[in-house]
Amino acid sequence: MSSAADEDALSSDKKREEDGTDGRSQRQEGVEVADGKVDLGDLYGAAAGWVEARTSCPHIGTMPPAGADDLARVPSPDSPCSRCNHPAENWLCFICKDVLCSRFINKHMLCHHQETGHCLALSFSDLSVWCFSCDSYLDVQAILELRPVYEVAHLLKFGQRPPFRSLDVQDSGTGESGSVSRA
Ligand SMILES: [Zn+2]
Ligand SMILES: [Zn+2]
Ligand SMILES: [Zn+2]
Repeated sequence: MSSAADEDALSSDKKREEDGTDGRSQRQEGVEVADGKVDLGDLYGAAAGWVEARTSCPHIGTMPPAGADDLARVPSPDSPCSRCNHPAENWLCFICKDVLCSRFINKHMLCHHQETGHCLALSFSDLSVWCFSCDSYLDVQAILELRPVYEVAHLLKFGQRPPFRSLDVQDSGTGESGSVSRA
């Protein structure tokens, strides 16, 4: 008779239970980043509107003591790069007070760091402080040693001293005075 019908009955008798465990077949489709770089940190920083800065740096000791002579050597923040004369995007070396352009122009500040080991730089664009050795921004409000040069640069750039956060005024624990919405 028809032995084919018997085979058919046999194969359909086997239940494929493995199908139930196949829920992970579509994992991470399209999540691959083309250049292998995932900038979650950058994204977070951009979304939050600020970049996290270190509140300490082990290279602060490489700076000369901030005396009047040293501070008098801080050039005007509109000084051009001393190597290529580029007028903007420049950094001030905290150690030798050289003005050099950023890595987005001709990388002269970066080269200076690689040549001399000087790692602390002040941006003449926004007065942020970068440590090449820490590979991080530094919090000028938290690291007292950075303040003298920062203040001089701020004075030269804006004509006034920077408005430093006063630790005495920081009283966020009690929200008493802030609750004006109460009728
Ligand atoms: Zn340059
Ligand atoms: Zn230097
Ligand atoms: Zn450092």
